[in-house]
Amino acid sequence: MKTNINAVLKQLGIEEINPAYSTGSNWGKTNSEKAIESQSPVDGKKIASVQVAAEKDYNFVVETAQKAFLEWRKVPAPKRGEMVRQFGEALRINKEALGTLVSYEMGKSLQEGFGEVQEMIDICDFAVGLSRQLYGLTMHSERPNHRMYEQWHPLGIVGIISAFNFPVAVWAWNTALAWVCGNVCIWKPSEKTPLTAIACQHIIEKVLIANEVPEGVCNLIIGDRIVGELMSNDGRVPLVSATGSTRMGKAVGAAVGARLGKSLLELGGNNAIIISKDADLDMSIIGAVFGAVGTAGQRCTTTRRLIIHESVYDNFVAKLVKAYGQLRIGDPLDQHNHVGPLIDKDAVASYLDSIEKCKAEGGKFIVEGGVLSGADYTSGCYVKPCIAEVKNDYKIVQHETFAPILYLIKYTALDEAIALQNGVPQGLSSAIMTLNLREAEQFLSAQGSDCGIANVNIGTSGAEIGGAFGGEKETGGGRESGSDAWKAYMRRQTNTINYANTLPLAQGIKFDL
Ligand code: NAD
Repeated sequence: MKTNINAVLKQLGIEEINPAYSTGSNWGKTNSEKAIESQSPVDGKKIASVQVAAEKDYNFVVETAQKAFLEWRKVPAPKRGEMVRQFGEALRINKEALGTLVSYEMGKSLQEGFGEVQEMIDICDFAVGLSRQLYGLTMHSERPNHRMYEQWHPLGIVGIISAFNFPVAVWAWNTALAWVCGNVCIWKPSEKTPLTAIACQHIIEKVLIANEVPEGVCNLIIGDRIVGELMSNDGRVPLVSATGSTRMGKAVGAAVGARLGKSLLELGGNNAIIISKDADLDMSIIGAVFGAVGTAGQRCTTTRRLIIHESVYDNFVAKLVKAYGQLRIGDPLDQHNHVGPLIDKDAVASYLDSIEKCKAEGGKFIVEGGVLSGADYTSGCYVKPCIAEVKNDYKIVQHETFAPILYLIKYTALDEAIALQNGVPQGLSSAIMTLNLREAEQFLSAQGSDCGIANVNIGTSGAEIGGAFGGEKETGGGRESGSDAWKAYMRRQTNTINYANTLPLAQGIKFDL
C-alpha cells in the first residue's frame, strides 16, 4: 500500500513553509534568508521548506525560556508529571503519523519509525512515575540536634542538540526527564530532519495550551551547527545535552567546559559482538544481522564488528553470507524490506570511501558493497550492506562509518576477544553470544567490556528506556533515559539544619567569643 505522505503531513500540522522557531504555541517567522529543504532519502523528493533561525531569533527564544523557568520551577513535580502523561497520550494518538514521517524523512523502516515513537511514549510513562521519586538522601549529622539531608533542584534551561538518526526519540528522552525535574528545554534538532521536529512541537503544543503552560517552557529552534554553537557558548544554558558524532561532541564539550557549564554527551559507537565457541549460532545470526543492517547501519549502537571464535568461524560466516543474500533493500515504508536508504548522498560518499580505505589497508570483502540504481532507488541513497575480513587495528576499523559495513575478526582465546572488543576509541555498546556462564560473567566483570552497555545473548542495538543509556571513552560518558540518569538534569543541594540552642562547629572546632 502506497503511503499518502501529504495526508500524514496535514495530520501533523506541517505546512508548505515552516517557521524557524516556536516557544510553545507561538511560532515565529524569521528575517533570515536561509531555509532548509527537507528531502526524503526514500525517493529523493522535496517534502517541505523550513526556515532557519537567525541569532536574534535564538536570543528571543532563550529570553522567553529564562522567564518561563521562573514560573515552571514553582509547579510541583507531580503536576509537571501529569503534563508529561498527557504528552504520552498525545503521542499514542499520533504514533502512526509521526512514525511514518520519521520513516519518510529519515529513511528508517516503518517498524523502526513506530518503535521510535513507542520509545517516546515509554519515556513519558517512566517520567510520570519519576515525578514522584526525585529522591534525596538524609544523613546523620555529627553534631547534636542537627538534621542533614540533600535535595535536588532544577538547573534552568536545558539545551538539546540531536542527531538525524533518532530524530524524535532523543528529544523525548531529554524533554520528559528535564521537564519533571523542573527545567525548560530548547531543542535544536538535526538540520537533516527538521520536519519530524516541527511535528513533535505541534503534538506537544496542544498539551501546553490545554494546561496553560507559559510560552518558553518547551522551545524548538531550527538551525544548523551555528545554532548549536550559540547554545554551547551561552552561559544562560546551564546544561547542553548533545547527541551526535564524536567530532561534534568534542567541540560542544570544549565550549561548554570553557564556561564551566554541564554537558551530557551521547556520541559515536564502534560496537562489537563476540561470537563464542559456545554461542547459539542461529540466534547469533539474527542479533548480528539486525545489528549490522538495521536502520541501514545508522544507529549509534549498530554492530560494526564481529569477533568470532576460530572454531566456529567458517560455519558462522557461511550462515552470515547466506542471510545477507536474503536481505531485501528498498523503500522503508514497504514492510517487506529489511534495509532502507542512507540519509543523503554525503553518507553514500562516506560509505564508498570507507570501502576503498578498507581495501587499501588489506581488508577482504566477502560480501561486496555498492550503490543501487534503477526505478526503485531514485534517491541514489540505497547501498548494499557488505562484509569484510579485517584486522582490528586498521585505521578504518577504528573509525565509526555510519553505514552498513560489517567487519569480521577471528580470535582464539576469550581474553584476546575482550581486548579486541575494547581496542577502539569508542565505548558505547557491546555483546557476547555464549551459553557458557564463565564466559558471560567474565565479559560483564571489571576485566570484561569497557562499554556503557554490555549484553549477553542479545545484539548491540536496541535498548530499553528503563536502563541508563550511554557510553564511555569517545562516546562521551553521558547517560540518558532510565535508572538515575535524571540526576544530570538537576543540581544537588546539601542542607544542614540546627535545631539546638548552641552553635557547635563541625570537626569539633572551638570558636568561643
Ligand atoms: P552530527 O554530529 O553531524 O550532528 C549532530 C547534531 O550536532 C546536529 O544537530 C548538528 O547540527 C549539531 N552540530 C554539529 N556540529 C556542531 C558543533 N560544532 N556545535 C554544536 N552543534 C553541532 O551527527 P549526525 O550525523 O546527525 O548523527 C550521527 C552521529 O550521532 C553518529 O556518530 C552516531 O553514533 C551519533 N549518535 C549517538 C547516539 C548516542 O546515544 N550515543 C545516539 C544517536 C546518534
